[in-house]
Amino acid sequence: MRLKIINGTIITPYRYIRNGTVLVEDGIIIGIETRDVDFPGAEVIDAGGHYVAPGFIDLHIHGGGGHDFMDGSVEAFLKIAETHAQYGTTALVPTTLTAEKEDLLETLDFYEKANATNFNGAQFLGMHLEGPYFALSQRGAQDPRYIRNPDPAEYEEVLAYSNSITRWSAAPELPGAIDFGKRLKQKGILAAVAHTDAIYEEVLEAYENGYTLATHLYSAMSGVTRRNAFRYAGTIESAFLLDMDVEIIADGVHLPAPLLKLIYKIKGPDRIALITDAMRAAGMPDGESTLGSLKNGLKVIVEDGVAKLPDRTSFAGSVSTADRLVRTMVNMADVSLLDAVRMASATPARIMGVHDRKGTLVAGKDADIVIFDADICVQRTIIKGKTVYHNAIQNLTTT
Ligand SMILES: [Zn+2]
Repeated sequence: MRLKIINGTIITPYRYIRNGTVLVEDGIIIGIETRDVDFPGAEVIDAGGHYVAPGFIDLHIHGGGGHDFMDGSVEAFLKIAETHAQYGTTALVPTTLTAEKEDLLETLDFYEKANATNFNGAQFLGMHLEGPYFALSQRGAQDPRYIRNPDPAEYEEVLAYSNSITRWSAAPELPGAIDFGKRLKQKGILAAVAHTDAIYEEVLEAYENGYTLATHLYSAMSGVTRRNAFRYAGTIESAFLLDMDVEIIADGVHLPAPLLKLIYKIKGPDRIALITDAMRAAGMPDGESTLGSLKNGLKVIVEDGVAKLPDRTSFAGSVSTADRLVRTMVNMADVSLLDAVRMASATPARIMGVHDRKGTLVAGKDADIVIFDADICVQRTIIKGKTVYHNAIQNLTTT
């Protein structure tokens, strides 16, 4: 099964290859060429002069297309994966909300079943548990009823229950959080600091014990504080100072342009992953929606490109899709298209430990490819060599 993509500007994403050609065999990229080449028996996709980039990888996402990963169904997983594939996402990490243990275990069950039948959507890179070990004072939209301290009896049961957990977010200043980080590191699970009031000394200890990523930088985390006249650096400053990776909700609403520019200036494109952190209303029209599971969720309103609490005093989740993240970085933060794509592909792949097979367009990697136009509107999404989305309005010729 051969595929050849011609007549596009390839974003590797370390450089442009204008009028380049991508050769794919059995779902794997076998060549990136600087001109059209013979490739007998291949299906040919004419990119129509558009960009041909590595598929977007979303490390932190709760839902889309009207579904949440905690709805308790295989259908929810598959529909979310298909919805986001329409916006260029080829791999994602399904994320839970703070919940009771039973609901987390049930969601892990549905993950396994959905993963085995996910043929038309963005691929799953394991589950991300967001909580429940968080600082109450930084809970954001996490349900305070379920927030608690790390308890080895509980997390060992969860870790023993499923091999599908690849990422876990926690507040590092809580009692037991350092031991928890060590345990995650030992299991090869990415630990991230999140919903936290930690000061630098606590983040440093966490960083040395497994916590290498800051979850949605600036959202639900401490900045500089004063205690008895003395100033302390918070989690945000710590993430800048240490060689930590950061992820940012680059929907253009959660973080204003100057903060996007500041993060980019300090951390650079190989330390920043663009995430949607999307709730179920992503890819849906404005109006009423539910944040969290259908069973335990919170009524919210979607307007102005974001979900809000009904009294409009606070945001209640992002409704972004990955194409919008790239657009925001280019249009609002004045980042080059190469770097914006890199923060949506190569960098998240490296952070998640899948860069040996995903994240860049080079020979030997999975043929996870997005074709988009000059406005970063997605025309086609290809996962392991198979087109899962095609904007039929565009006149792409397939022979
Ligand atoms: Zn989240």
